[in-house]
Amino acid sequence: MSLGEQWRAARPAVAGVHLDSAACSRQTLAVIEATAQHARHEAEVGGYVAAEAAAPVLKAGRTAVGALTGYEPADVVFTTGAGHALDLLLGDWRGERTLACLPGEFGPNLLTMARHGFEVRPLPVDSSGRLDAAAATKVLAAEPPGLVHLTPLGSHRGIVQPVAELAAACRADGIPLLVDAAQAFAHVDCRDMGADAVYTASRKWAAGPRGVGLLATRPGLLSEELLARIAHAEANVAAHVGLSLALGEHVATGPEPIRTRLAEVGAMARTALDGVAGWRVVEPVDEPSAITTLTPPDGVDAQVVRSRLIAEYRIVTTYAGVERAPREMTAPALRVSPHVDVTPDDFELLARALTELS
Ligand SMILES: *Cc1c(COP(=O)(O)O)cnc(C)c1O
Repeated sequence: MSLGEQWRAARPAVAGVHLDSAACSRQTLAVIEATAQHARHEAEVGGYVAAEAAAPVLKAGRTAVGALTGYEPADVVFTTGAGHALDLLLGDWRGERTLACLPGEFGPNLLTMARHGFEVRPLPVDSSGRLDAAAATKVLAAEPPGLVHLTPLGSHRGIVQPVAELAAACRADGIPLLVDAAQAFAHVDCRDMGADAVYTASRKWAAGPRGVGLLATRPGLLSEELLARIAHAEANVAAHVGLSLALGEHVATGPEPIRTRLAEVGAMARTALDGVAGWRVVEPVDEPSAITTLTPPDGVDAQVVRSRLIAEYRIVTTYAGVERAPREMTAPALRVSPHVDVTPDDFELLARALTELS
């Protein structure tokens, strides 16, 4: 069986065509079952006793995060999502409230930064929104902000950012680097990025349950008060069990073949879809990610097309309005984000549907 066939066989049958892993991947039957099993166990022995029994599973989950990021399992905590992790990091920050990030920063992250009183400065980029690492190194040295925040792979565009160069510049200037890996985790290589914190959601490329996330930090970054608060906070332990299993499956399948296949899938999508009925692909064909964004031809509303693709063709994609990256996007886009199991037929169906709807 190919990687894609194996991935598909482990999941419930798909109703239609699912090209939406950047929003929410499909979970395996085993993950769904493990989550339900934990809830059943809570009813049998009590929620707190069941949580103790699940401790080794959660530890294995944190160990898998360690394998994927280079952090120690003890420095990984569960959150309720990526946004929650950023909220915790910024709320806990005791230094200067200035922060540098890309112009393509995720809109909801910008709102969180503003809510915590951060003054946001743009890092230099080229015309595609890719970090200009050499220029950024100079800017950071000349006027170091309190924090640097990087989203190595955005929600609105499949461009993979050069993390290592930025991390080196941050290290040289003693500026903590926070990384939003909501799209990068379990998708592109996130090992040893040199960041002080990395956080992600569960439901995207890692294909875990919804409503959970992860935060890994360098020891000493978070305050003892915050760590104690996180340790005692109410949590959806069943979802943590499901996520831990999903991470175990990911590591067992092989992060590297998955990464390679996702890059292949991105190139397939861009080749199959660019120019179809006037839709234009934003990313370079060989950008090593499985996120493809398409801008519509004049007079076509991407939001309407997204709805009609579901209602009339059972093809699931994402509508990405400019609020997703308000400092970079100038027009809405349709995001196509298949996982490793996509087939050329799936793209052919989408191309035909786009032609009929445009
Ligand atoms: C989805 C996403 C988030 C938010 O994740 P939640 O778990 O829903 O809070 C943050 N950043 C990026 C880049 C995302 O794609």
